[in-house]
Amino acid sequence: MGKGFTIDFSGKTIVVTGGNRGIGYELSRAVAKAGATVAIIYRSSKDADEKAAEIGKEFDVKTKAYQCDVSDADQVTKTFKQIDDELGPVTGLIANAGVSVVKPALELTADDFQKVYSVNVLGVFNTARAAAKLWTERKYQGGSIVITSSMSSQIINQTSENTALTQVFYNSSKGAVSNLAKGLAAEWAQHGIRVNVVSPGYVNTDQTSGMDPAVRAYQAANLPLKRFAQPEEMAGQTVLLLSDFASYQTGGEYFVDGGQLIW
Ligand code: NDP
Repeated sequence: MGKGFTIDFSGKTIVVTGGNRGIGYELSRAVAKAGATVAIIYRSSKDADEKAAEIGKEFDVKTKAYQCDVSDADQVTKTFKQIDDELGPVTGLIANAGVSVVKPALELTADDFQKVYSVNVLGVFNTARAAAKLWTERKYQGGSIVITSSMSSQIINQTSENTALTQVFYNSSKGAVSNLAKGLAAEWAQHGIRVNVVSPGYVNTDQTSGMDPAVRAYQAANLPLKRFAQPEEMAGQTVLLLSDFASYQTGGEYFVDGGQLIW
């Protein structure tokens, strides 16, 4: 047997929202690599079944994709019940699905607010509560929830020296969800449920692919590590927090941001 620490999720069933692409896809791969059965929740992508099957085959674990809009509480409750029945008792949740509207604040509408907050805040709440209900009903101690927030929960991204990236609903929704996590962690500690947040910096995914190249270069140049992250670089922190190695960690926010918050 090799030396070193091993995270083993054999016998665990972990739900990953937005697990079919971007950061979520790599989080799904990482928990599958550790032996978990993985339920991927997606909204509308056509290839989610294939993506789930791909991961299952790569790591020889059970995986399945479930179409579910996380902003709809009834759909979420039904989907968690279905996952529980089909894949075995859910033991962990990565609440990762998120959306952004990039627009100057003067042009933002109530619909834009609804679009962003219904996924980034309400969607996280709906899935966290669905998991916590399953765990409290069966008196399962040890449930772990990791929420993907963003470093923009703390700071506003610049696009040049005196201008900001125009996404105030996104930034504020991430501030809200980071705070939501603390409240849930405090309320659910008595049930043995841990809730933590991983806040990425800039990551190369569909969400950042449309950025103006000059803005991207400016932002990368201002990071201590001088580059955007690859999605798989978000996995280590998330997997650790889900695992029993983090059994004394709850209500925390952990930044994986190339050092951006240093300055
Ligand atoms: P992507 O845009 O690449 O993917 C978004 C994922 O969320 C997709 O799987 C999508 O499903 C799913 N999703 C969106 N809305 C819903 C919904 N209503 N119900 C269910 N699933 C939904 O995102 P990223 O991988 O870039 O981001 C993942 C998380 O990381 C987000 O919370 C984001 O805010 C955060 N983040 C990203 C950063 C980055 O630089 N990329 C930086 C900091 C934080 P479908 O494919 O079906 O549309």
